[in-house]
Amino acid sequence: MLLIKNAEIFAPEASGRCDLLLGGGQILRMEADIRIPRKYCEVIDARNLLAVPGFIDAHVHIMGGGGEGGFKTRTPDLQLTDAIRGGVTTVVGCLGTDGYTRTMPALLAKAKGLEEEGLTTFLYSGSYGVPMRTLFGTLEEDLLFIDKVIGAGEVAISDHRSSQPTFEALAQLAGTARRGGMLSGKAGIVNLHLGDGPRGLEMLRRLLKETEIPATQFLPTHINRNPSLFEEGIAYAKSGGFVDFTTSTVQAYLDDGEVPCGEALRRMLEAGVDPGHITFTSDGQGSLPDFDAQGHLRGISVGRVTTLFAAVRDAVQLEKVPLDTALRVITSNPAHLLKLRGKGHLAAGLDADVVLLDPRNLEIHTVIAKGRPLMKAHKPLAKGIFE
Ligand SMILES: [Zn+2]
Repeated sequence: MLLIKNAEIFAPEASGRCDLLLGGGQILRMEADIRIPRKYCEVIDARNLLAVPGFIDAHVHIMGGGGEGGFKTRTPDLQLTDAIRGGVTTVVGCLGTDGYTRTMPALLAKAKGLEEEGLTTFLYSGSYGVPMRTLFGTLEEDLLFIDKVIGAGEVAISDHRSSQPTFEALAQLAGTARRGGMLSGKAGIVNLHLGDGPRGLEMLRRLLKETEIPATQFLPTHINRNPSLFEEGIAYAKSGGFVDFTTSTVQAYLDDGEVPCGEALRRMLEAGVDPGHITFTSDGQGSLPDFDAQGHLRGISVGRVTTLFAAVRDAVQLEKVPLDTALRVITSNPAHLLKLRGKGHLAAGLDADVVLLDPRNLEIHTVIAKGRPLMKAHKPLAKGIFE
C-alpha cells in the first residue's frame, strides 16, 4: 500500500488537507490522519504538495499519425515517459487522416501495450473518413465487444482533408454511436475533428437541430484553432454543447490566430460557458505541419502529451483561472462526458491515479497510476520497454 500524508487535495474541487491510502490499484481511504504501521505501506510526505487526479488526455495518436506530407512525415508513437512527464495516466487513442497504413488492430495493440506499461487506455474506432473502418463490421459491435472502444473518431468535418461526409452519413454515424454506446453502457461519443473550413460547426448544429441525438454524443475538437471557430464554439457551448481545445501547437499557428488554450478557457468562462462543458486534449503524436504562404511544407513537428497540463498551468498562472476550475478540463469533465468510471476524481473507491504538484510553480512532482508510482520527486521511475 502507499500512504500519501497531508496533501492539500484538489479532487478536482478544493477539499482541504488529508491523507490518501492507495492499495490494489484503488484509493482505499481519503481522510485526515490515517495511521497504518509503516511495515505495511510506503509513505510519501506530501505536506508541501497538492494532490490532484491523474490527467486524462482524450485525444492522442498513440501509434503515431500524420503522413500528410508523404511517408516520411508519419509521426512516431507515444512513449511511456512522455505520458509520465505530462502527468497523464489515462489516454484515449485514435487514428487521424491516415486510416490505411494505420489500422484499428495496430491501434488496439498499442493501447494494450501502454496498459501493460501502467497507463489506462481507451480508443475511438475509425479515423477521419466516413464510412468508418471499424474492427468488427460495425461501430456498435466495436463498442459492444471491445472493452477499450468508447466512441468514434476522430471524424473530420469542415476540412479539406475530410471525406466530405454528407449530413445524412454523419447523422447515421452518430446514431450508431449512440445506439452502440447505450447497448454497451459506454459514452459512444463522436469525436469530431474540426478543420479551418468556413463551414465550421454548421453540420454539428444541424445534427442537434434536425435529429434527436443530444449534444452529449459529440465532442468537437480543435475549437481553438482559429478566431472564428472559437467564437462559434462559445455560442455552441453556451447553447449546451461540449467543446475541446487542442494544447499542442507551434508558434506559427499562434501567429496565425490560434487561441492559446489557457486564454481560450478564460474567455469561454467569461462568456458564461458552463465550466463542465470544456475539455483540453493534447492531440499528442499528431503532426504539426508548418506551411508557408504558398502552401509548401516548411517544417513539421509532433504534438506532445506534456502540453496538456502545461496549458492548464498557463490558464492558472497567466489567465488567473482558479486551479480547481482549470483542473476540471483534464480530469472530471472528460471522465464524466466519456463515462470513464473510476477516473477523473479523487475519492475512496476510485482508481488510484494521483498527481502531486508543487504549489509554488505547479510543476509535476509525483505521478501515480493505478497505485503504482511512475514518477517521484520529478524523477521518472518507469520507462517504455524500448526507451
Ligand atoms: Zn484532428
